[in-house]
Amino acid sequence: MLKRLLPLALAAASLPACLAQAPAAPADQPLKAIPYSPSLDLTSMDRTVDPCVDFYQFVCGGWRKSNPIPADQASWSVYAKLANDNRRLLWGILDQDAKLTHRTPIQQKIGDYYAACMDTDAINALDIKPLQPELDSIAAIKSRDQLAAFLREGASRRGLYFLMAGAEQDPKNAGTMIVGVEAGGLGLPDRDYYTKTDAKSQDIRDHYVAYMAHLLVLSGESQTQADADAAATMKIETNLATASLTRVERRDPYNTYHPMKIADVDALIPGLQLPAYLQLQQVPTSVLSNVDVAQPKFLAALQTELANDPLDNLKAYLRIHALNAAAPSLSTSFEDAQFDFYSKFLRGVPQMQARWKRCEGQVDRNLGEALGREFIARDFAPSTKQKVTVMTEQIEQSMQQEIQNLDWMSPETKQAAIAKLHAVRNKIGYPDKWRDYSTLTVERNDYYGNAQRSRVYQQKRDWAKVGKPVDRTEWGMTPPTVNAYYNPQMNDINFPAGVLQPPLYDPREDDAPNYGNTGSTIGHELTHAFDDEGRQFDGQGNLRDWWTPADAKGFEEHIDCLRDQYATYVIVDDIHINSKLTSGEDVADLGGTLLGYEAWQKQTAGMHLANRDGFTPDQRYFIGMGQWACENERPENQRVNAITDPHSPGKYRVNGIVSDMPQFASAFGCKAGQPMVAAKACKIW
Ligand SMILES: [Zn+2]
Repeated sequence: MLKRLLPLALAAASLPACLAQAPAAPADQPLKAIPYSPSLDLTSMDRTVDPCVDFYQFVCGGWRKSNPIPADQASWSVYAKLANDNRRLLWGILDQDAKLTHRTPIQQKIGDYYAACMDTDAINALDIKPLQPELDSIAAIKSRDQLAAFLREGASRRGLYFLMAGAEQDPKNAGTMIVGVEAGGLGLPDRDYYTKTDAKSQDIRDHYVAYMAHLLVLSGESQTQADADAAATMKIETNLATASLTRVERRDPYNTYHPMKIADVDALIPGLQLPAYLQLQQVPTSVLSNVDVAQPKFLAALQTELANDPLDNLKAYLRIHALNAAAPSLSTSFEDAQFDFYSKFLRGVPQMQARWKRCEGQVDRNLGEALGREFIARDFAPSTKQKVTVMTEQIEQSMQQEIQNLDWMSPETKQAAIAKLHAVRNKIGYPDKWRDYSTLTVERNDYYGNAQRSRVYQQKRDWAKVGKPVDRTEWGMTPPTVNAYYNPQMNDINFPAGVLQPPLYDPREDDAPNYGNTGSTIGHELTHAFDDEGRQFDGQGNLRDWWTPADAKGFEEHIDCLRDQYATYVIVDDIHINSKLTSGEDVADLGGTLLGYEAWQKQTAGMHLANRDGFTPDQRYFIGMGQWACENERPENQRVNAITDPHSPGKYRVNGIVSDMPQFASAFGCKAGQPMVAAKACKIW
């Protein structure tokens, strides 16, 4: 159970597709190599625009015009396009491993997982049958006691339904793993969907209730019964949502940290019989005096539901959540229903992703380090790892210098900050040791069973961590992932091999665009260690205040500058950025671009850098930086992201940042009063 992971970009609800500019192979063919595009692409620009007026349009205008959103995507971006090409490469690996006769155990697992997923005839012939035992067990529940036993006994196959529980790093003692209990149980993407009173939110709720009823009808219920059950479930979820913290509240780690004795947790929610559940998971009793309950108010609300709701309503909730969770592993009619609500209606996506893409996604989700191992063996150059390692160390040196030069921070806090910086662990490419999947059985003719056994494997692996020292070598993303993250409790920055490819990291290009693009990304993740959330953890990952009160106050005032700046930006319609939600990412973007710039300056000090394509070296740094963020997005998806995504839209991740940087203004000769020169430039790190 990973509680806090600060990625560069939101894992897209439906990752990339399409191929508008991929001439190397027809759209629906696996790739053997990713088509090259450079990290500074002149054809992506719109040079008719003044860079001091709209830099984002200047660097991305061409890209945006020639890269319409594919029919199976909610949005489309440089990152999404690379991720999509990468998926076609993985498709080739899976397709090959499915067909090979002499295979390694890893090739057998990923090849057969993929082949079973592709066998839609077999999946459709089974229809709802694989889920029937679960539905029968729900139907057989006759008492609240039996309800608790049902939740507990099947949890390793499908979780606890109403909430999440698992191993987590002890926030105050980051070297050990304890039991964490988190809120959950909602079918809409955020608790705000249940509480907002505007007409659009009401419309979304109405569609959601209709979707739940549709699932029940597909499972054999009458429409009348299904409507009543969906309405009852909506009521339960609304009560749970009302008691859940908002995303902004959850950004404060103290709001989600409540160490309790298991007896006290049990007293808070006796209806769940948690001690019996933990016993079943073989959790050692020695750790039960310190269970972290993220949201006690949520547990109290859940207890009210478990104790007072008619049993039939709770059973309806379970049926709906069982169907929704299983839909991707069931027949086409269930998959279609889920797509129609979550993708088509909620995010405006016209068309479902091709089957191969969904199956590749399932393998990455369930056997990610096995697939990753095959990917690394074929597609990751050791020279890239070396070069990016050097770049990362340079950026850390720049951070140290920035800290030393700050005029608002006291010497004590500076010393503690530098100690934390030195403790950051750099992870580049792939894990030092690979996950062992030998206990997971994958059958070529049992897709549903594979999905279920994968969950059991992961649950077992997770629970086995409790009471043991933290494994600091573990990764929270798979190697092919086109993304990066910082984890404050591990105090590590992570750059999977997937993100270290052109047009992001480009070995054929010179330093300027590479430090602008990948250098800024490394700086972004490193700055998360010192953003308003990350700064609350120390070098070992403990939640501990190492700041003097005056420095903490000074820091918050500096961030308020960015919060005020970003709150003025409009996402879509009249929806502004919720800059209390995005402030950590905005700080990381600003810090990252500055650190990338300074590291590049040092890297190229004393070299004679020539102009290229009519641009100075400094201009090329900023163009390289801006071009990582080129994107197009459907308005429906923008509305979802306005609520759920802690990142600002690409346009502001470029324009908001450069307008705060005097280095940018001097590179392009921008003058005070022009849009890309902020009236009040924010600087934090
Ligand atoms: Zn980030």
